[in-house]
Amino acid sequence: MDLAQRIRFEIDRRRDDLIALTQDLIRIPTLNPPGRHYREICDYLAERLAHRGFAIELIRAHDAPGDCDAYPRWNLVARRAGASPGECVHFNSHHDVVEVGHGWTRDPFGGELEGDRIYGRGACDMKGGLAASVIAAEAFIAACPDYRGAIEISATADEESGGYGGVAYLAAQGYFDPGRVQHVIIPEPLHKDQICLGHRGVWWAEIETQGRIAHGSMPFLGDCAVRHMGAVLAEIEATLMPLLASKHTAMPVIPPGARQSTLNINSIHGGAPEPEAGSTALPAPCVPDRCRIIIDRRFLIEEQIDEVKAEVTRLLERVKAQRPSFAYEIRDLFEVQPTMTDRDAPVVRSTATAIAAVLGREAAYVVSPGTYDQKHIDRIGRLKNCIAYGPGELALAHQPDEWISVTDMTDSAKVMALVLAELLAPAG
Ligand SMILES: [Zn+2]
Repeated sequence: MDLAQRIRFEIDRRRDDLIALTQDLIRIPTLNPPGRHYREICDYLAERLAHRGFAIELIRAHDAPGDCDAYPRWNLVARRAGASPGECVHFNSHHDVVEVGHGWTRDPFGGELEGDRIYGRGACDMKGGLAASVIAAEAFIAACPDYRGAIEISATADEESGGYGGVAYLAAQGYFDPGRVQHVIIPEPLHKDQICLGHRGVWWAEIETQGRIAHGSMPFLGDCAVRHMGAVLAEIEATLMPLLASKHTAMPVIPPGARQSTLNINSIHGGAPEPEAGSTALPAPCVPDRCRIIIDRRFLIEEQIDEVKAEVTRLLERVKAQRPSFAYEIRDLFEVQPTMTDRDAPVVRSTATAIAAVLGREAAYVVSPGTYDQKHIDRIGRLKNCIAYGPGELALAHQPDEWISVTDMTDSAKVMALVLAELLAPAG
């Protein structure tokens, strides 16, 4: 057998192991927020990988957002050096999952196997991808024990809440320096035949309209912040939404609806806080003096963030020109620049070759509508040779009855192991 055949054989014979590993990971409920069981999942992986010759580091992101003794932000970095010097290929997965939500017909932390599917919160985003990368590395090591360079596997915290207690922290500590790591694959659920080159940019901001409190029976003595916000929302509908719909990108974003600029209004709050659930108290009659919205603006690689922000400021100034008592404040919450790895980058070329070999079809190149940890590897780690590639359907992420296909995990594990072969197998 040649190396590619040995790799396929080693992965096929680990099918039950892959299923059991995925189920075990799903059964550790690493909910974020608040950040539960992070140490437990790191310990589980550490135990497994230490047995396979990996050197283990457990790193707590002290003082990262959310880090506290009740919910410490634990990360795992496992590294296995090869027989001779060479490059390092790093697989990075986040170990946190989002809340369960309503509408499940399965146990969200049961890891139930039915036919080809494993169900559970995080099955697709992204414990299935994490499991596939572990199996890929173990199978490659068995098939090619004298490989060059090094293989790293990390399981990191808090991707779902920005990654500051996870990849951002590790990148700041030098874990993604180009001198240490040369290739990064993030097994997010972008589908087994697609290579994700990067993501759009993000700007979150809070807009507050300001008025004056008064008795609700004499609203003319006050100034209603909610009505001011109504004028802001009307202006967003009338001018900003059409403007965003007219901006198109050359980035191959999926789904195609995200190939333009978009805006979501995350929340709106005005006046007195809502009563506690179950409260029978009546509200007090007040003119609301504050109203706030949080906007989530996704922008394109062709756009500049300064202009993205200026569009909103100009909009608020237009409203002000029409409403004499209008006052507002705008506060930046979060921003991320768009990022896109070159199609000629080594990790992209190797993955495309491996997809063609395993699936018998050409790889598709895509860009994610939302961000993921690539932003930190790019901006803080200064490593450009990074992609997302992994099993699963992005549309299932964060949904009830989330699942992952065992066949897709097996196929993508073969792709990942062939990438290792291409980048780390000794010559000749
Ligand atoms: Zn994810």
